[in-house]
Amino acid sequence: MTKYCSSCGKPIYENTVICPNCGCVVAGAGDPLEDKPSIGLRILSFLFPIVGLVLFCVFLGSEPTSAKSYGLWGLVGCIAGCCAIMII
Ligand SMILES: [Zn+2]
Repeated sequence: MTKYCSSCGKPIYENTVICPNCGCVVAGAGDPLEDKPSIGLRILSFLFPIVGLVLFCVFLGSEPTSAKSYGLWGLVGCIAGCCAIMII
């Protein structure tokens, strides 16, 4: 499977980040701007740690930064939940 460089139009491998022909960063290949954890999903991970765990597994491949954030919030939510149970 090949795709084409958005800058020079030459065929490049799908997982290529920097075009070997023109040296430009290929659009869409691990774009860091798209790897932003959603606040709503982080709150959801906090309230329901199991959701955080699922989101962590789902996003780990495509958005590792977001995945770690959801996993962390899930963990914090889990610890907070355990503390609340012990206090009550
Ligand atoms: Zn190129």
